[in-house]
Amino acid sequence: MDLDFPHGKKLRLVVGDITKIRVDAIVNAANSGLHGGGGVDGAIHRAGGPTLMRELDVIRAAQGGCPTGSAVVTTAGALPAKFVFHAVGPIYRDGSHGEPDELASCYRTCLELAEQHGVRIISFPAISTGVYGYPVEEAAGIALDTVAKHLENPASGVHEVLLVLFDQGSYEVHSKMAARRP
Ligand code: ADP
Repeated sequence: MDLDFPHGKKLRLVVGDITKIRVDAIVNAANSGLHGGGGVDGAIHRAGGPTLMRELDVIRAAQGGCPTGSAVVTTAGALPAKFVFHAVGPIYRDGSHGEPDELASCYRTCLELAEQHGVRIISFPAISTGVYGYPVEEAAGIALDTVAKHLENPASGVHEVLLVLFDQGSYEVHSKMAARRP
């Protein structure tokens, strides 16, 4: 499903494996220690190869990890992209501990990094909706709102944003939320 924005910009919802889709920048759902993990993080490191972790080791030595709601940049190794933006989503408790702002901040930070790096096409997984337990419907609303706000800005250089959903259930929830938008 595609949502259209002014100047031909698009937000696309797709089902798939984010490591297989060619873009300029792939967003990873990382953890604050930048150690790699399971889920999409494991898949990105396996497909990208050891250069990603080597670059994260340098970042970790310099700044000691990455705060929740923020992101760090590496090259993409063997992945079909130029960059990986490693974003740290919130661990969901009950939604009243700043999780919505932190999740929105992940998307916003990655879109700002995209602008700084001349990225035109960027893909996101459904950050925090796996092991971090964020309810998919709430997370989808935040992802869609934050991306839409960016694409509505005429000054944005990002042309296409893909939300890559790993399973049909997540895709359907995101599509339902997208269809409700004005
Ligand atoms: P988090 O710890 O932020 O919750 P997870 O990796 O556990 O991160 O899950 C985030 C989302 O990424 C989940 O919806 C999960 O199904 C999805 N996911 C897992 N592997 C992939 C993949 N290869 N491509 C796209 N999405 C994936």
